Parts: sequence; structure tokens; C-alpha cells
Amino acid sequence: MSSVFVIEDEHQIRELAVRALAEAGHVVWSDATALGGLQGVIENAPDIVVLDLGLPDLDGSELLRMLRSVSDVPVIIATARNDEAEIVRLLDAGADEYVVKPYSGAELEARIRALLRRAEAGGKQSKLEVGELRINLRSRVAEMGADVLELNRKEFDLLSFLATRVGEVVSRQELYAEVWRQPYGGADKTIDVHLSWLRRKLGETAAEPRYLHTVRGVGVKLVDPG
Ligand code: CA
Repeated sequence: MSSVFVIEDEHQIRELAVRALAEAGHVVWSDATALGGLQGVIENAPDIVVLDLGLPDLDGSELLRMLRSVSDVPVIIATARNDEAEIVRLLDAGADEYVVKPYSGAELEARIRALLRRAEAGGKQSKLEVGELRINLRSRVAEMGADVLELNRKEFDLLSFLATRVGEVVSRQELYAEVWRQPYGGADKTIDVHLSWLRRKLGETAAEPRYLHTVRGVGVKLVDPG
């Protein structure tokens, strides 16, 4: 059994979500305001948060930023606007998944189950080691030798995903799907840009790779440089 906090100001949608999730066996809390929701999330520490973007007291993206500063709880954003750029921006800002309104209770529940599976898979092995690189998935700290790497959220996600698949070439499509949550691919340069930032932080270049190897036309792999 898992617990879900629904932050949604529209009464009907909130009731639908709460009922569907409770029927599916989840413990459910809800609030109609951003600040009430934030407080509720801090107090109840749910496994998942469903966050409406259009709230009366605060923009949902602002609330996401506040949530992220206090918690790593998986967040599903619910939006009435099927605006790809906006969704990408929010996924980059720390949302884990999204649903477009109107959604059904079954659809929301499926997203929640998928997120819980991912969280569980991530929790099985919380520490990864590749050469001098050490990654703690729980505390989200990556170290190279004695140095802590200053990674942003997506850089960390990208590095840790590749580290779970050491030596394997991971396709761009898979990275979009697994790291960016965009199963149909994303903005053309997103992965390249993040890879180049990551390389700089790992102290290597594309021309002289050590850990991060691009396989032209196929994807990327992380290796132990030995
Ligand atoms: Ca709303």
C-alpha cells in the first residue's frame, strides 16, 4: 500500500482522483491550495504527489520548486494544457511524470503504479561504483575520487541511469524515455548539452573520453576506464 497526496483546486477532479486512488488501495490526502498542499506533504510524507499546475494561491511550477527544496518525493504534474515545452520545463525542474486533464482515475492510477515501480527499482541498489566514480542514489550524491561532483538534477539522473548499465550502449531514445520521461524523443540537443556538461564535471572531453563514450548513431555508454 502506498500513500498519495493530491493537490487540486477543482472540487470535481479532486474528488474523482481521491476516490479512484482510495479504491485502488492507496492512502490518500488532498488539499485545494498550494500552500495547504505543501504543508500537508511535509506533515504526511506521502510516497507520491499529484500536483495541479493551476492553483488559486500559487502557480504549480512555483510550488514544485518549493517542494523540491524540501523533498525528493516523486511528483506527477496534472495539466490542462497539453503544452510540450511547458511539460518539458517542469520535468527538467523536478517533476517525474505528468497527466493531461481530463484524466481518468485508471490513467492516474497507472501513472502512480509506474512511478512506484521506478522508485522501488531505484531503491534496491542505492550505491553504484564505477572506477573512481561513486554514486549514492538515495542521497543523490556523486563523487569522483575524493571530490563531490556538483551536478544538477538531470545531470545526476543521466549519470546514475548510465551507471546502472555500465558497459552497455544506451540509446538516445531510451535516455529520453527513462531520464527525460519523453518516450517519443525530446528537443534535439537536450542530451548532447547535458552530456557535455557532465563530461566537463567528470573532467573529460568528447575527444578524449574516459568514463562517457558516445557511440555514433547508436547512443552512449559509461565504462570503467580502469
Ligand atoms: Ca486548477
